[in-house]
Amino acid sequence: MKLFTVGPVESYPCTREVYRKDIPYFRTAEYSSLVESCMRRLGGYIGLEEGGRLLYFAASGTGAMEATVDNLLSPEEDNALVINGGSFGARFCQLLQHHEIPHSAVTLGVGEALRESHLLPFAGRGYTALLVNLHETSTGQLYDIEMLSRFCRENNLLLIVDAISTFMVDPYDMQRYGIDVTIFSSQKGLCLSAGMSFVALSARALAHRRGRCRCSYFNFGDYLTNMERWQTPYTPAVAIMHELDAMLTYIEEQGGLESWLEGIRKRCQYFRKQAEAAGLAVCRDYPLSNMLTPLLTGSVDAHQLFLRLSREYDFYVNPCGGALAHSMLRISHAGNLTNADADALIAAIKTLTR
Ligand SMILES: *Cc1c(COP(=O)(O)O)cnc(C)c1O
Repeated sequence: MKLFTVGPVESYPCTREVYRKDIPYFRTAEYSSLVESCMRRLGGYIGLEEGGRLLYFAASGTGAMEATVDNLLSPEEDNALVINGGSFGARFCQLLQHHEIPHSAVTLGVGEALRESHLLPFAGRGYTALLVNLHETSTGQLYDIEMLSRFCRENNLLLIVDAISTFMVDPYDMQRYGIDVTIFSSQKGLCLSAGMSFVALSARALAHRRGRCRCSYFNFGDYLTNMERWQTPYTPAVAIMHELDAMLTYIEEQGGLESWLEGIRKRCQYFRKQAEAAGLAVCRDYPLSNMLTPLLTGSVDAHQLFLRLSREYDFYVNPCGGALAHSMLRISHAGNLTNADADALIAAIKTLTR
């Protein structure tokens, strides 16, 4: 089996190795120091400022998205703006609606790139926060963080970024772009098992924390207190923390974050070049993340192609939903994949679409 999926991704031997040993109990000084070490390294990778804090939850990425909305925003004092360019943007809208936070959305059509002109009508209108899935994984569009950051600075908005499918894949830096909140999870760019998610909070985000937090499990206050001794209020995904430690160590051994990102960028460029040389159509309607390549399947039914790749080759790619269900596949470049894997996938697609 090969996973060309966005998450979980094809795993690395270093994380599988974790499960060959006993996973120790966690209310111990040893586990606390493991958490401290992982959090300090991750905080560095994400560009978290000195006064910022990093929390983690036993929940998939959506749990961290909901926790952020519930803890940071209040129905009385906030009015949020959401970039809705696909199913993850729609998820932010749904969460805001559920928590009764007033909001508006910049809704993009199929294949439509986000531009400054989409934002300008919302300038100077009293919005308090911008929520964006920086890489809208459902279409592959990577939004322009400099443009969004400028808009937030000029209009004094809290910048809340779901970086789930861009952190550890594309360059990312909270301080450089004035990002107040970063949400990410274990199963995408970090290449770990699914089940752990993270919220990084800038000092400004910590001060803004004025949500009613109707949910007890995700109350940031409890996590902030517990994290002072590198513990969590409830049982964490202990095994995934050990995977994280192994993965961060592996990345360091491979030359650190910069060369890690360069490796993914090269794999991504190789795939796109070979795919286009083989006559496949890469969607170029908008800027793309290095995480994935959206392939347009033309007259071939994309969903049937997805099924045949899994049944006949044991290759898993991501199908699309909604309007793109029959015309686009998404191929991930994150995880333990090589150029030879890309060649094999392209050959399989060519055979099935001949
Ligand atoms: C994967 C993903 C999520 C989280 O999905 P979960 O299934 O809850 O982990 C959120 N946002 C984006 C942009 C994603 O790619």
